[in-house]
Amino acid sequence: MTFLNGIAASNGIAIAKAYKLVEPDLTFSKTTVSNPEEEVSRFRDALAVSKNELEQIRDRAETDLGRDKAAIFEAHLLVLSDPELIKPIEDKIVSEQVNVEHALKETADMFITMFEQMDNDYMKERAADIRDVTKRVLAHLLKVQMVNPSLIAEEVVIIAEDLTPSDTAQLNRDYVKGFTTDIGGRTSHSAIMARSMEIPAVVGTKKATESIQNGDLIIVDGLKGEVHINPTPEVVNQYEQIHADYQKQKEEWAKLVNEKTLTKDGHQIELAANIGTPKDLKGVIENGGEAIGLYRTEFLYMGRDQLPTEEEQYKAYREVLEGMHGKPVVVRTLDIGGDKELPYLDLPKELNPFLGFRAIRLCLEEQEIFRTQLRALLRASIYGNLKIMFPMIATLDEFRQGKAILEEEKQNLIQKGEKVADHIELGIMVEIPSTAVLANQFAKEVDFFSIGTNDLIQYTMAADRMNERVSYLYQPYNPAILRLIKMVIDAAHSEGKWAGMCGEMAGDEVAIPILVGLGLDEFSMSATSILKARSLVRHFTKSEAEELARKVIQMSTTEEVIAAVHEITKNKN
Ligand code: PEP
Ligand code: MG
Repeated sequence: MTFLNGIAASNGIAIAKAYKLVEPDLTFSKTTVSNPEEEVSRFRDALAVSKNELEQIRDRAETDLGRDKAAIFEAHLLVLSDPELIKPIEDKIVSEQVNVEHALKETADMFITMFEQMDNDYMKERAADIRDVTKRVLAHLLKVQMVNPSLIAEEVVIIAEDLTPSDTAQLNRDYVKGFTTDIGGRTSHSAIMARSMEIPAVVGTKKATESIQNGDLIIVDGLKGEVHINPTPEVVNQYEQIHADYQKQKEEWAKLVNEKTLTKDGHQIELAANIGTPKDLKGVIENGGEAIGLYRTEFLYMGRDQLPTEEEQYKAYREVLEGMHGKPVVVRTLDIGGDKELPYLDLPKELNPFLGFRAIRLCLEEQEIFRTQLRALLRASIYGNLKIMFPMIATLDEFRQGKAILEEEKQNLIQKGEKVADHIELGIMVEIPSTAVLANQFAKEVDFFSIGTNDLIQYTMAADRMNERVSYLYQPYNPAILRLIKMVIDAAHSEGKWAGMCGEMAGDEVAIPILVGLGLDEFSMSATSILKARSLVRHFTKSEAEELARKVIQMSTTEEVIAAVHEITKNKN
């Protein structure tokens, strides 16, 4: 048995066979062939198998993810039967007497370069389709296994170097029991999504892909951040027991689903949920979410090959607002960038994407994208209790510009006779230290704050949230972070505004008592953390929490803070 340590990214225990999601080795050499007809026939066989496989993937995607996501595979199928691509490959095999791998790669590369150079988004997308299809056909020719996560039909634990948010979105919850990656941190978006999908995960193990073979028996311990490879039967038994105990604990928490969130002495706070798509609403209701504190709208823009239309967005926002039946829904405008890429926007690669042209910065420059989203939101606003917030605000000027554009779109819609809610609260994410420091000025102009600790911590500590090598610096309980949070909450309250938090820290057991003590009004977290948080809050009084907050704000290290919290929560769970 081998054992790996990593970062506990999503609670729970998974026991299943390993399925490695790694790029196959598609290298080959150019050779001359004496029988080109045989090569052509190998080519046609590989095309037929690829076609069959893609049809299965398309059908699976259509059922699980919807028609627009399946459209990508439809485009791939068109490439596979395109004579303009296939004929030159076959001609090349025959006229140059070369192996099919070489003819395929050379011809495909020629088309890819040509299409990529065109100043036309449609043709650029075709270049990406050809690249994907070429890989698939090459894999069949070289007889190497192509990874097809959407075709998984047995229980597995996914092993990958990293998973992008769109890879994660495509995981089938019925079969993918857990995952483990070499890189990543607790607040990488794949980890956040694992929590909302309730898939146990351990990230940042550094060598999962190197140490694990396909088919190995794996235990993912998402509670402690451990991965066991080919464990002994005794260890498996032990983990089955831990899994059963955890399930029992969840049943206890589930009894609180319809309860208010009150401290022991009756102080009420609001527990909200973070969602990425309307599909997540079910989890919010099942876990007793009192609001949606963060709707990450960028997932609407991902896993597809063009921007969503105003109509598509309007439908998604309306569905969420209606589904929450008048409870607050805080929708964040597009926050693309960092680990969330949109390949079809074709933005230049940046050295520091987390510090680059992203989120509100992009929206203020690419205004058509921003305005389309705002119109969709404004039109949906009459179907519920909508609040809008801008991500990554660093200066008051950015907020004012965003607000002016929102106001302009609102007036245009009203002039056209469209209905828009009378008052929509407009707030900002506080995730950049400059904004936290200047919170008292912002508080005069915004309706609310939502503290985005995932980014606020990485920018304050200068420690990339995705990089497991600096994860020791990613310290939510560092007094420096706690002081910034206090400044934001106090600033909001002194202007009569509310302050929430939608970073992962809001659902963190150690942080919750401190945040209650600091006076945070709204806690927004993965839906699956809500019931546990509600149970925790019932075990201490507001004044105990205030006393704790007063103490920890004066401390010097994370370790002291953790010890102080344990002092008030011990024996209370
Ligand atoms: C944050 O930064 O805390 C946040 C909630 O936004 P995201 O995780 O999407 O960057
Ligand atoms: Mg953020």
